[in-house]
Amino acid sequence: MAKRDYYDILGVTKSASDSEIKKAYRKMALKYHPDKNPDDKEAEAKFKEAAEAYEVLSNADKKARYDQFGHQAFEGAGGFGGGGMNMDDIFSQFGDIFGGAFGGGGFSGFGGGFGGGGQRRVKGSNLRIRVKLTLEDIANGVEKKVKVRRKVQAPGTTYKTCSTCNGTGQVTRVTNTILGRMQTASTCNVCGGAGQTIDKKPSDADAQGLIIKEETVSIKIPAGVVDGMQLKVSGKGNEAPGNGISGDLLVAIEEENHPTLQREGDNLHYDLYVSLPDAVLGTSKEIDTVTGKVRIKIEPGVQSGKILRLRGKGIPSINGYGKGDLLVHVNVWTPKTLNKQQKDFFESMRNDEHFEPKPEIGDKSFFEKVKDMFS
Ligand SMILES: [Zn+2]
Repeated sequence: MAKRDYYDILGVTKSASDSEIKKAYRKMALKYHPDKNPDDKEAEAKFKEAAEAYEVLSNADKKARYDQFGHQAFEGAGGFGGGGMNMDDIFSQFGDIFGGAFGGGGFSGFGGGFGGGGQRRVKGSNLRIRVKLTLEDIANGVEKKVKVRRKVQAPGTTYKTCSTCNGTGQVTRVTNTILGRMQTASTCNVCGGAGQTIDKKPSDADAQGLIIKEETVSIKIPAGVVDGMQLKVSGKGNEAPGNGISGDLLVAIEEENHPTLQREGDNLHYDLYVSLPDAVLGTSKEIDTVTGKVRIKIEPGVQSGKILRLRGKGIPSINGYGKGDLLVHVNVWTPKTLNKQQKDFFESMRNDEHFEPKPEIGDKSFFEKVKDMFS
């Protein structure tokens, strides 16, 4: 099924401000909230859809990626993997946006009444790492194994139901106000909303029964990623205590400079230097590509500034639409020193008709070539 545009889902324009986006999402969340629409699958789907749209559009980094690449920006190793957000993610998002705003609003607490009941599940914190990639890694896609120090539940730790909130994770208080009875739900401060507290734990575990463990995590990086992009490996962040869910591992992409190739979007540029005799007589030259060396032909009489386009030898587009090109820029190398014989030869070629510049009508100027390159 085709995914709807995130801006359409929230009913805002691309130029909407952060607060307009937040407001639009708040409206949708209130309308389709599961507490208001029990057993309504359509409302639930709309609720999830809006949460996912907000998750992206409220984050400057994700929004920029979405604006540039569309939904594809979050496929592959990162993002929502097609499965949408789960309810735990959505409810944990609520805490961040609405905070106390919902407290007096008469909802029966976000944890209750949905997904089979039970308390809101606590989510472990996210971990962040940087991964350095060569241009070859980026062009071909790569699987990276990284060592991560994450918090995990210590073996031997057991949890029991929190006696303060009876496992609901929420404490409700009813107050009488001028508008009538108001029910305020707040997170239980004994269990932190988990509904569970530590029963037994080994001595080396922290207060939540967690220990730090080094683990190797394998990260599949799709071809075409861009420096600064962030991928998400779900569930590979810190574990949460009790029956909580693990946080995520956020992977920031760092692109290493290539010794000879320059990246510009999905296209690559290569500076090729040819000697004067090679330019005059023609030759073949080996050049670097992201899939190994390639030999290309240089026609006799090649002009300095000529751009040879090797189609499809660039970077695959992250959204899966084809590949960029490799643009080879020809630079004719003019010798700076000559011996007597060579000097005499070139002296004798002055005013020779073959050495006179004769740009053909069809020859493009430098600026036209640059224009072509970007078209
Ligand atoms: Zn509690």
